[in-house]
Amino acid sequence: IETKLPAVGTTIFTVMSALAVEHNAVNLGQGFPDFNCDPALVQAVTDAMQQGLNQYPPMPGIPALREAVATKIKALHAREYSANTEITITAGATQGIITAILAVVRPGDEVIVLEPCYDSYVPNIELAGGTVVRVPLTPHTFRPDFDKIAAAITPKTRAILINSPHNPSATIWSREDMLQLQELLAPTEVLLISDEVYEHMVFDGRQHESAARYPGLAARAFIVSSFGKTFHVTGWKVGTVVAPAPLMAEFRKVHQFNVFTVNTPVQHGLAKYLADPTPYLELPAFYQRKRDLFREGLKQTKFKLLPSEGSYFQCVDISEVSELSESDFCQWLTKEIGVAAIPLSAFYGNGFDQRVVRFCFAKKDETLQAALARLAKL
Ligand code: PMP
Ligand code: GLN
Repeated sequence: IETKLPAVGTTIFTVMSALAVEHNAVNLGQGFPDFNCDPALVQAVTDAMQQGLNQYPPMPGIPALREAVATKIKALHAREYSANTEITITAGATQGIITAILAVVRPGDEVIVLEPCYDSYVPNIELAGGTVVRVPLTPHTFRPDFDKIAAAITPKTRAILINSPHNPSATIWSREDMLQLQELLAPTEVLLISDEVYEHMVFDGRQHESAARYPGLAARAFIVSSFGKTFHVTGWKVGTVVAPAPLMAEFRKVHQFNVFTVNTPVQHGLAKYLADPTPYLELPAFYQRKRDLFREGLKQTKFKLLPSEGSYFQCVDISEVSELSESDFCQWLTKEIGVAAIPLSAFYGNGFDQRVVRFCFAKKDETLQAALARLAKL
């Protein structure tokens, strides 16, 4: 059959996780925690199931969860979103992103992505009939180059996708970056899709600069987040999209026909759990400690450490360790050393290789220590 997505194979995360299992490697590749979530969250979901909350919820999500999300955004970013018309619960950020794209991107529209970027963005744009316009972040520092972004904007540009904290580089956008983007987009009609799934993982006292904090961005933005990341439940696949009412109305037209609704008891459990902000307020310290433990260990190797400002990723430059390409190196590291990692080239359309690979440190301390013991041979 004639394929709609000729360039798409199995995702790098699936490939590397399978290889890790096959070779009994410590899996620091695919990004997911290897520890359990708070038992109180499981209890809240279980309670909802036992109370019989097991049928279809309202299409945009249960009101209590949308209210809890509105309250959280107001407290953190001083912006009011209407739970009724501006917040939708999604089946993870992945569904939020494709739904936003399908809702606004028309055939022939251009959509700007900043590479390296998460692997679903490009196929999502292609499925919508859009034209992908790739703008590189600066190699190695992964900073946005606003001259390059400005040069990529044309009358056909429908949207730009950004992601901070950033997967895979673990950089975050500063206030200056957000202000520059706001200024750049001000004279345009370009929409913004802001992937903020790692919003609660920012380190060293930094602040997450949500698009919600910038009126000129918020007015044109779909802001995407994921409870999977925030509460250590990636397998539950629940997230949120918030956007101004006219954008959200378009979003919901697609949402109701590609998923319709999202898991009822999980929504009730999350609504109850969100009443206490402590778990997400403690997340930066929780992950910063793991980051530091992992970085200390890596300092004993010949890897060159890149900064990890946010997310649960740590990138390293491999040039002192190996001559192999990033991709071959990750295969070799998994098979021969017993630690799985992800090559950054997988996040570029042209496979650009800058000798950098990504580790995920959302792991038990003993998992990180086991990986470090193996990496110490390098
Ligand atoms: N965006 C980014 C940048 C991600 O890293 C991920 C998860 N790996 C997602 C979106 C998807 O999130 P979810 O699991 O909630 O669909
Ligand atoms: N987002 C996760 C990562 O970057 C993996 C999610 C997936 O497997 N698609 O590792």
